[in-house]
Amino acid sequence: MALADIGIYRYTLEGTVLQMDRSTLRILELEERFPDPAQVVGMNIKDLLEYELPPGALRNKTLQDEAVRSFEYNFRTLKGTRKCCLHDSRLVRDHDTHQDVIQVITRDVTALKRVQNRLEETNRELARANAELQTLDELKNNLLANVSHELRSPLVSVRGYADLIMSGSSGPVSDTQKRQLQIIVNNVQRLTGIVDELLDAAQLDRAGPTLNPAPCDVNGLVEAALLTMALNAAQRSVRLERELAVELLDIEADPRLLSQVLVNLLTNAIKFTEPGGRVVARTSEAPDGGVCIAVIDNGIGIAAEDLNRIFERFYQVDTSSTRRYTGLGLGLTLSRNIVERHGGTITVESTLSKGSTFRVTLPPSLSADGAGATASDGHVTI
Ligand code: ADP
Repeated sequence: MALADIGIYRYTLEGTVLQMDRSTLRILELEERFPDPAQVVGMNIKDLLEYELPPGALRNKTLQDEAVRSFEYNFRTLKGTRKCCLHDSRLVRDHDTHQDVIQVITRDVTALKRVQNRLEETNRELARANAELQTLDELKNNLLANVSHELRSPLVSVRGYADLIMSGSSGPVSDTQKRQLQIIVNNVQRLTGIVDELLDAAQLDRAGPTLNPAPCDVNGLVEAALLTMALNAAQRSVRLERELAVELLDIEADPRLLSQVLVNLLTNAIKFTEPGGRVVARTSEAPDGGVCIAVIDNGIGIAAEDLNRIFERFYQVDTSSTRRYTGLGLGLTLSRNIVERHGGTITVESTLSKGSTFRVTLPPSLSADGAGATASDGHVTI
């Protein structure tokens, strides 16, 4: 952008021009009418432009004392162009006439002003959009939390009665009825899992889960998670393997939340691996005395362009109506949040059709300030 045009002129207290340079004439769009600046000498300033302020107001501003007065000044040129100038204006004594005169250094900031106004308008629009997004986000979280909460109680009730009938205490149950009841129970369990995930997601956005730290035997937690997932893996004909560090010191972590991360990662690894594939849970000691947990699969893999996005809330690689995989797209968001609350990191490496490795690194103990993710070479660090 061109620098602001700067002009200088002087006029008497009555408004008679004593001197005006070419730049001022250019600013006032009077160059063509008065090619020689001497032509405007003797004219009244109010005949050279249209004030948006009455001229008296301007002069009063200038004449309050002898200090330089700086102010923004809007006017129209005689050609009708609206302009904005910054005036440094002050009262000076004319050497020849010994009169008090007004001397003005003026800068044409019309173009700058236009840009500034546009920026301000854009800022206002952004602020409005931001506020709207925040409200929507809050609404969505409240909805998630309330709906999940409301769904939970009837689910508990359905599960309780199904168990009761199955136990036979309400009367005899045939084998066929038992099998059908088991289907009800399985589906209630699945629904409860989904509702829990939604509830966790809503809570995460508010305060996040509170950590209840305790000394954790990570190998033990991995074994427990593998056990939880054993049936699921068997149903999908996926082999579950373990490669656990022989000796692993306990770390300080929240065992319930850490188990949730492990189950999330194993669930995905199994879900996105074709029958006949395998999933490995591996633990090792981290250089800082913490623990590294890797969940490795030889499943469908993730394309490079999706790697950065899979940790976003509700993001799923396949969102088509014909998609084969169930889920809400929340598991990794929750897992990342939990790991970061422990001051750890979660990274992923993946190759399409070859498989994925999710790696969680946790420090030996929780630091006071908690999370802190740092990028590591070649991996996507969340
Ligand atoms: P969900 O599994 O419920 O869809 P997640 O947040 O756990 O949600 O995962 C988000 C997405 O990341 C999944 O939908 C899937 O596209 C991709 N993804 C996660 N883990 C794997 C994996 N082990 N292999 C291939 N894709 C995966």
